[in-house]
Amino acid sequence: MGALFDKLNNDVRFVEGINGCINCGTCTAICPAAEVYDYEPRSIVNMVQTRDDSIIEGLLKSDTIWYCGECMSCKTRCPRNNAPGLVVQALRGLSIEKGYFIESEKGRQQLSLKRMLGNSILETGYCVHFDHTELSMFPELGPVWQWVRDNREKVLAKVGANYKGDGPGAMRNIAKENLDELEKIFEVTGGIDWFDKIENNSAKKAEEMNLDIGEKTSKSSTYFRHVYTYNTPNKHNRK
Ligand code: SF4
Ligand code: SF4
Repeated sequence: MGALFDKLNNDVRFVEGINGCINCGTCTAICPAAEVYDYEPRSIVNMVQTRDDSIIEGLLKSDTIWYCGECMSCKTRCPRNNAPGLVVQALRGLSIEKGYFIESEKGRQQLSLKRMLGNSILETGYCVHFDHTELSMFPELGPVWQWVRDNREKVLAKVGANYKGDGPGAMRNIAKENLDELEKIFEVTGGIDWFDKIENNSAKKAEEMNLDIGEKTSKSSTYFRHVYTYNTPNKHNRK
């Protein structure tokens, strides 16, 4: 048993997620991510079950652990009551903690999530805020979203939102004291530390790739744009 396995074993998600795998493959059969990606939850559980640190390190540096959509369908069918999705969550956490996520293309995309969703939660209280989403980053939405934005007050009033208002309702302003409280929760639960690890390790990788990491809020730096937009052709999909 190695140090990485010990770390995993201290994560409640890992302890809850694996009771002993018989390698039956039922989780892979039900897994929607396995239909699309070069991905098998059965193999992941099988690999961590070896308790071999070199195998686990390989997983932590791989694209594999980032394909799971966390739907937990695997949990519903496993004859041993395992939850490969929870095992994946523990692996992702350890990958970020050790800085291994920057070694894979999908892992490096953590910077996009941190800057687009993580920053938004702390700044606005919303994971995705109507006003903070850069439309140029979602060209697949076409002109509709721009129209909705141009007519936001009318549209939001129609659906009963309380846009930027006080009191209850969707899209209301979140008070400063609540945002401070939210930040405190992120601090004590290790979320801020995670964000720092994502930024600091991404900065190292950006330097190695000769790209600009930009400010911690930047969505236009060359490194951010690269990890946000680039996928090596034919690398990730099921063959
Ligand atoms: S369904 Fe459960 S026992 Fe079967 S391979 Fe997946 S995790 Fe292992
Ligand atoms: S939680 Fe992940 S591994 Fe489990 S079925 Fe969903 S996508 Fe697949």
